[in-house]
Amino acid sequence: MSKVAFNGLGNMGGPMAGNLLQAGHSVTVFDLSESACEQMRAAGAGVAASAAEAASGADYVISMLPAGKHVAATYLGESGLLAKLDTSTTVLDCSTIDAATAREVGAAAAELGIGFMDAPVSGGVAAAAAGTLAFMCGGDAATFASAKLILADMGKNIFHAGPAGAGQVAKGCNNMLLAIHMIGSAEALEMGVRNGMDPGVLSEIMLASSGRNWSLEVYNPYPGVMENAPASNDYKPGFMVDLMVKDLGLAMEIAEHSGVDNAMGKLARELYTQHQEAGNGPRDFSSILERLKS
Ligand code: NAD
Repeated sequence: MSKVAFNGLGNMGGPMAGNLLQAGHSVTVFDLSESACEQMRAAGAGVAASAAEAASGADYVISMLPAGKHVAATYLGESGLLAKLDTSTTVLDCSTIDAATAREVGAAAAELGIGFMDAPVSGGVAAAAAGTLAFMCGGDAATFASAKLILADMGKNIFHAGPAGAGQVAKGCNNMLLAIHMIGSAEALEMGVRNGMDPGVLSEIMLASSGRNWSLEVYNPYPGVMENAPASNDYKPGFMVDLMVKDLGLAMEIAEHSGVDNAMGKLARELYTQHQEAGNGPRDFSSILERLKS
């Protein structure tokens, strides 16, 4: 069993750290929120007064933070964690952040001989609680071998995407495509319904035809077609519009950095941003179908 320091105990980090405790690891946590720390103490974790205190002597340092600036502040600079860690420690940042910051932290870690991976996740709060997250990892092969040992206690599918930053790139590519096929599925369904079709029958036809995609298959955006989809539960998330807009912003940065003219991705971001500004931020991202109703 390993000694793990875990930073960031929010909707995702809390249940992830909980699964590490359940798997028998010795977990010391740090979060700016006292109540989040106290909840983890009750579950059996040690609570540290700082990220540095939590990381002292740890085999793994894991972070699940809101954005790139939090990750940079945690790891970089004279007061950052990298300057304090032993080279035997493996650092795994599971936050969804910009690829540039992930590369910067990866390069700083490599210079110090510390193994680092960006390891963002696919799957929301339910997958974090169930321990079925998918991890997309960016870093070297030796670090990936070490990372897999601990990530397996929080997830099901663990991919080595490439060098540092590649995990964030993979996540950006996936979520951009997800936004595009969700919007496309909503438009196709609404068009069928306005022409007298039953959305369930149309879904069945498209699922057996070349329009088949994940949004139709497991997350149908039309209310009533799929009992367990957020659409049939007043678009209760699921995966919030706010998070989709964040992820599309990161995907656009990746596209810009690499000179890709991703017209569909840009349009998807615009439509999701409008939907967010119309007050739908906390709703599930499949509620984009309602844009067509107004
Ligand atoms: P959250 O806002 O619920 O939690 C973030 C936690 O980090 C909070 O408890 C906050 O107090 C803590 N924090 C902030 N700065 C800190 C610091 N410097 N040191 C220690 N703790 C600090 O967010 P979340 O939903 O858990 O998401 C975390 C990350 O996971 C984000 O990058 C998000 O994009 C990504 N993500 C979220 C989901 C989801 O469905 N919620 C799914 C996939 C990926």
